[in-house]
Amino acid sequence: MKINNNFSRIKESYLFAEVAQRTSAFAKEHPDAKIIKMGIGDVTLPLCPAVIDAMHKAVSEMGVKETFKGYGEYRGYDFLCDSIAGYYKSFGVDIEREEVFVSEGAKSDLGNILDLFDNDNTVLVTDPVYPVYVDTNLMAGRNVIYAAATEENDFLPLPDNSVDADIIYLCSPNNPTGAAYTRDQLKLWIDYARARGAVILLDAAYEAFITDPAVPHTAYEVEGAKECVIEICSLSKTAGFTGTRCGYTIVPKQLKLGQDLNKLWLRRQSTKFNGVSYIIQCGANAVFTPEGQRQIKESIAYYQENSRILMEALDACGIKYFGGKNSPYIWLKCPDGMGSWEFFDMLLERANVVGTPGEGFGENGKGYLRLTSFSTHESTREAMERIKALLKK
Ligand code: PLP
Repeated sequence: MKINNNFSRIKESYLFAEVAQRTSAFAKEHPDAKIIKMGIGDVTLPLCPAVIDAMHKAVSEMGVKETFKGYGEYRGYDFLCDSIAGYYKSFGVDIEREEVFVSEGAKSDLGNILDLFDNDNTVLVTDPVYPVYVDTNLMAGRNVIYAAATEENDFLPLPDNSVDADIIYLCSPNNPTGAAYTRDQLKLWIDYARARGAVILLDAAYEAFITDPAVPHTAYEVEGAKECVIEICSLSKTAGFTGTRCGYTIVPKQLKLGQDLNKLWLRRQSTKFNGVSYIIQCGANAVFTPEGQRQIKESIAYYQENSRILMEALDACGIKYFGGKNSPYIWLKCPDGMGSWEFFDMLLERANVVGTPGEGFGENGKGYLRLTSFSTHESTREAMERIKALLKK
């Protein structure tokens, strides 16, 4: 028996452990300090009533012989695939029921989708990056190359024709930078991918936070996308499903890169996946009803108000930042040339506020810090008042 040695290529995921360690050491030394965590990447508001009602109803159905459900469809129940297709229709995009694959969340599918691709492919990710794209490919033994996301390109790298990539990960709106590609920018990536026969894996986990009309909610709004884009979506941040687990992946029938990827993915799913539970799919379906949409938008508006509070305070301090407008993340430049960890320590020790050091997301994250809008209004206001008191010039 031989272990998969590719695991030795993966760096220890030390970022959040180090944040937790420094925070608890400080708390131990300063038991009276009221620490506010502004680095959290999880939602804090509960599931909306429409989702809860639908799940309660589904639980009751499972206890009655006539409505009990055993194994479901590998792709997901038709009712949910149709609702998701309807959601795409609201952006003027036609997606067929058979192109929708319900998942237990985006993270699983971001890794699982790689079953479709040979290991002898070059993978391009942006730097800074959501680490899952890198680690899943390193585990499989693929070569990973980086496109620098920097202040100069507004953290939105565009394709470089001198670089050969086969699998391209784009995250828009982006974690950690909060930057989001416009239709025109996405078109450049789509043209690049089509010219090479490459595939784009578009992580749209934060799609629901988009406010800018130039930023598309789905890549399929852009011409040619169905020939090269697999879109991976999540209800985690959209509707508070981080603990409940549900997402969906779109594999268009037009995606024929040597083989019919829609068919291959169905084959893969029917071999390795037995679907998301009926109860969860009923809850997910409620998200796409008019009442569900109204309710989830209320929660998103709550987080967006936090972003506004964050941005207003950073403006008052003269701190440069990115994101916040189309995403729950604010990517700020550490003041006075400070390093990520140096500024992290300063905020922890002098404002008792915890952020996430940008360098944990890649080389180009050095000198940046990520704040999120997932806290309460009260904590966000309090944290920003403290930061203002510390930094206002
Ligand atoms: N993609 C990005 C960019 C994320 O930031 C996250 C979670 O933080 C995920 C995917 C994971 O989503 P899910 O909860 O659906 O697995």
